[in-house]
Amino acid sequence: MKNIIFMGPPGAGKGTQAKRICEKFKIPQISTGDILRKAIQDQTPLGLEAKKFMDAGELVPDEVVIGIVEERLKAKDCDNGYLLDGFPRTLKQAEALDNLTEKLNKKINYVINLEVAEEEIVKRLLKRAEIEKRADDTEDVIRNRMKNYYNQTIPLIDYYRKKNLLVNIQGIGSIDEITDNILKVLEN
Ligand code: AMP
Repeated sequence: MKNIIFMGPPGAGKGTQAKRICEKFKIPQISTGDILRKAIQDQTPLGLEAKKFMDAGELVPDEVVIGIVEERLKAKDCDNGYLLDGFPRTLKQAEALDNLTEKLNKKINYVINLEVAEEEIVKRLLKRAEIEKRADDTEDVIRNRMKNYYNQTIPLIDYYRKKNLLVNIQGIGSIDEITDNILKVLEN
């Protein structure tokens, strides 16, 4: 059973790689960013609350995203594995996830950390801003997202290393090469 977390800075290619891995293992991709963007599009109360944080490059409050993931992980389609893309991003989220997955008997067994240097990330995100026109891809917002990543999400690397779950994968190279490197880890 593959119960996977994808970590890495914004723009590391988590979404692209996550899609490929989920197709390969036929497991659902749970992207909190995608769920929140959909809620904004549908103008739900969740969307209205999340939008101000996302537009500023801030993290959405822990209780909100933990609630989303809790609902999603309870679903039947997560019984045979799942991939979390962009969650957890804080220690509080990681601890809540531990409790939840223990309770649901769906404990995480792989944490893939996609590593990409900061200058490369900013370059990639600015390019994505031009192509996708995401409201949260302006330079100021990108810098803010990076700051939040370093302050709040980096500590999770140690958290999962101590649990012996962390695998670092270089996020530089062709998309196919990176997928192959991830598959080598997951196929063990
Ligand atoms: P992403 O598409 O994963 O880069 O997420 C886009 C934005 O959604 C982030 O910059 C946050 O504002 C919000 N977001 C997504 N996932 C989380 C999370 N796990 N915790 C807090 N905020 C999140």
